[in-house]
Amino acid sequence: MGKVIIKNLKKSFGDLEVLKDINLEVKEQEVICIIGASGSGKSTLLRCINALEEATSGTVEVDGNDITKADGNINKYRQDIGMVFQQFNLFPHMTVLKNISFAPVSLKLKTKEEAEETAMKLLRRVDLAEKANVYPEQLSGGQQQRVAIARALAMNPDVMLFDEPTSALDPEMVGEVLNVMKQLAKDGMTMIVVTHEMGFAREVADRVIFIDEGFIVEEGPPSEIFGNPKNQRTINFLNKVL
Ligand code: ADP
Ligand code: MG
Repeated sequence: MGKVIIKNLKKSFGDLEVLKDINLEVKEQEVICIIGASGSGKSTLLRCINALEEATSGTVEVDGNDITKADGNINKYRQDIGMVFQQFNLFPHMTVLKNISFAPVSLKLKTKEEAEETAMKLLRRVDLAEKANVYPEQLSGGQQQRVAIARALAMNPDVMLFDEPTSALDPEMVGEVLNVMKQLAKDGMTMIVVTHEMGFAREVADRVIFIDEGFIVEEGPPSEIFGNPKNQRTINFLNKVL
């Protein structure tokens, strides 16, 4: 589980064509890092994968379900796709435990007891068990983002999408979040990660995708993309960020 197949995906906002013709297959347990300049369409691509944005045309299959054509099933399909945002987006009025157990309970996937037991397991996994009963504002940014990851995992997703999960963090907190993501990758989660952390991409990605102006311009293993980029636009981008 966790296979994603994107075919001829296009997305426009009015006259602005943001995704021009995206084709991408993500294998089960594969870790993809997406890199590219601001405004190139990275977030829009992720948002099309879990139907937060409606594709203008093309298909996005997640484990065989075309989420661009999902009628009444969209919420069900979306449950299999976890997403972590730059700005954590925790529910401020809920404790950490409640943030994580809320969705599985309200969707009647688990009893409250089961969901809280799972939440505690996930909190141990992100090394925050002692924070179960505090509110998000009492946590550092890095801790909040680890809770956000635990919350996404509570739905037992087949694929996890990360949209610049460390970009809003103070530098000293980036490592703790990347370490949780590294462990998740080791555990076999299918992951699509938009990131500016080139070190993470180099170390953890099976494949790096460079997006420019709505196209996948170049893709390959990190050793190739970082060590021997072939497209001039990739070379220019890497020269700016490395
Ligand atoms: P990235 O994540 O690579 O920085 P985005 O996918 O956020 O890029 O944005 C790509 C382009 O689409 C930008 O020009 C942005 O302004 C535009 N865009 C994104 N979302 C919307 C929206 N909801 N309405 C109109 N334009 C949008
Ligand atoms: Mg973005």
